Amino acid sequence: MTYKTLSFDVDSDGIALVTIDVPGETMNVWNADLIEDFPKVVDRIVEDDDIKGAVITSGKSTGFMAGADLNMLGGVEATSMQEAFEQAFRLNGMLRKMETGGKSAKELKKGLAHAKPIAAAVNGLALGGGLELVLACHYRIVADHPKLQLGVPESMVGLLPGGGGTQRLPRLIGLQNAAMMATSGKPTDPATAKGQGMIHDVAPADELVAKAKEWVKANPKVAQPWDKQGFKFPGGGGAMDPRSVQFFMAANAMAQKQTNHNYPAIQYILSCMYEGSIVPIDTALRIESKYFTKLLSSDQTRNMIRTLFVNKQAAEKGAARPKDVPASEIKTVGVLGAGLMGSGITHVTVQGGMDVIVLDRDMEAAEGAVAYSKKILDKKVSRGKMTQEKADAFLAKITPTADYNDLKDVDLIIEAVFEDPDVKADVIKKTEAVIGEDVIFASNTSTLPITGLAKHSKRAEQFIGMHFFSPVEKMPLLEIIPGEKSGDKSLAVALDYNKKIRKTPIVVQDVRGFYTNRVVPPYLNEAMLLVKEGVNPALIENAAAGLGMPVGPLALTDETSLSLGWMLVQSTKKELGDDYKPTGVEDFLETMVEKLGRHGRKSGGGYYEYPEGGKKFLWPGLSEHFPLAEDQPSVDDVKDRLLYAQLIPASHCLADGIVPDAKSADLGAIFGWGFAPWTGGPASYIDMIGMETFVSKADSLAQRFGERFHPPASFRDKAKSGDKLYSKAA
Ligand code: NAD
Repeated sequence: MTYKTLSFDVDSDGIALVTIDVPGETMNVWNADLIEDFPKVVDRIVEDDDIKGAVITSGKSTGFMAGADLNMLGGVEATSMQEAFEQAFRLNGMLRKMETGGKSAKELKKGLAHAKPIAAAVNGLALGGGLELVLACHYRIVADHPKLQLGVPESMVGLLPGGGGTQRLPRLIGLQNAAMMATSGKPTDPATAKGQGMIHDVAPADELVAKAKEWVKANPKVAQPWDKQGFKFPGGGGAMDPRSVQFFMAANAMAQKQTNHNYPAIQYILSCMYEGSIVPIDTALRIESKYFTKLLSSDQTRNMIRTLFVNKQAAEKGAARPKDVPASEIKTVGVLGAGLMGSGITHVTVQGGMDVIVLDRDMEAAEGAVAYSKKILDKKVSRGKMTQEKADAFLAKITPTADYNDLKDVDLIIEAVFEDPDVKADVIKKTEAVIGEDVIFASNTSTLPITGLAKHSKRAEQFIGMHFFSPVEKMPLLEIIPGEKSGDKSLAVALDYNKKIRKTPIVVQDVRGFYTNRVVPPYLNEAMLLVKEGVNPALIENAAAGLGMPVGPLALTDETSLSLGWMLVQSTKKELGDDYKPTGVEDFLETMVEKLGRHGRKSGGGYYEYPEGGKKFLWPGLSEHFPLAEDQPSVDDVKDRLLYAQLIPASHCLADGIVPDAKSADLGAIFGWGFAPWTGGPASYIDMIGMETFVSKADSLAQRFGERFHPPASFRDKAKSGDKLYSKAA
């Protein structure tokens, strides 16, 4: 028999070696083909008397298995919940058959029957459905690599481990460890896994299969611990054990505190573990599939999978890249300006395997970029996460300079000097005088139009915007902005570079603020207006947390600084003159910055106080200058205002084509400013509640709080025609 996704070789001892190697995929995944092949393999092992046992391994050097193919899950369409359940239960049913050898739980428990031994030889990462396959094997041996990841990350895209992970993990490592792993989605390493009892042994990668075969040979009749008489959960389990009762009480409270009821997957994981711990495993697996089906058929999970996995991955692979431009070879990047952004850009560029020549006005300033990286690397070295040798090699890839001639051989320029058009014009001219004729020039400006800056370039078709976020090494988004004359090659090179530094890219229009900076200021302004109206700052921050924003708007303003906000108000006023439309926060910002000296976190505090070595707390002086109103609004009102202060400008960007499509709007929001990930992004959220609901809610907010909440006219039309922002195929 032949299989599409694996090879099956039986040795002279009758031990089958199943080597999974899914064609067309860099990593093994549970895709339609493997799901078709694997039950046949299980049947063959169980039914063929000449086969005494099996070892399952991977034929990929990239790892054992990365889990389920989420592209496939996102597209599952079942006609009924029953059908959806049956689909979800397929993996569970098949793995259960593998571990029981097709025998009944009763027979196994009484010792009247046994399963054939099946061992997993795990040569690299095993995540999600990959780890769940491993857990269903009777023996698990893993390569002794400290960076090898074993985990169940499904909750990160709104799912739960649906291949038995919520049942076998707690039965192996205890409820607490299992719940931690599954709710956080964080992987563990082989040594820890062995210590916890998740796996049996570790060994050098090239000895795994031989050792697994030895075990199979030595253990001809097996059953999983939970199929044996007298099985008990390590650390306690069930409804009556005081330890598990106490654990579930605390875990539920903690989960709700951390998720604000926004992530049903977390709740369902705990439910699977609780309900599953009071029934036999066969029932427990059906309980897991029931919760899995509920998640998979929900709009929320579909949205999360679509944005956080499918579209993120497509964008990172270069979906927006012009196809007919040949791949560029970027070995050395010239970074102009070694300030906060230039240093961060230098760091991620070296991390991406490239060399950097970083130029500033003088050598001392240019060396700032080396110092910036050194600080990050020193921390890693001191924590044992990097060797000193590697850190030194990293720093050796950065060449600071104040001499433009040193830029002559670079393959790409990224400019991050002062936000001053004259300074930028001067730097563009000097750089173009030395670099190669076909080198792309990217500017990291946050406010100046790219088309305007490109006028200072002799090669406007090679000029493009690349907007990074601070701190560059931590923020995942890159906004790419073609100017009016930017050619296909500039976009292709920007995306090729992005692939190396592994950010999530979106391509947006060249307008003031691009996309993200057209949405974030109105959101932060709304919080300022609330403070000005006397709304309790703690209520504002808690309402944002309730929405699922990882950082409250007041804390976020402190990070970007109130002084930047005040500076932007002044420069926008100057630029727009009579066309400037007041937002209502001008006097507030002036008071905070000019009168009270509350600039933000880095300059002695803003909305918050930042005691040295202590936890930040809301500045008590705020209420002296902006007294609390006697009547406080409801949390829902504050939530609505904060949410729609983001949805409305985002919807205008979509309506006006500033951001090209719903996927980019969603990616930019979640990865640019931390828009609540559980929604899948603003466009997904609007589709989820329905366009009609969105428009009528916006209208009602506009009536109560001001015209800034008016939705775009084209959205009203969509509400009438029933159109969605995502077409079915997106
Ligand atoms: P910064 O003041 O920290 O750094 C600017 C650097 O440019 C300084 O080291 C300065 O010495 C150098 N410089 C100035 N004139 C120069 C010249 N003529 N030749 C060579 N070097 C020169 O500023 P920053 O925050 O790093 O911002 C840099 C750019 O990035 C700006 O365009 C800014 O709008 C943009 N940006 C900033 C952020 C942010 O959060 N700070 C985010 C996105 C984009």
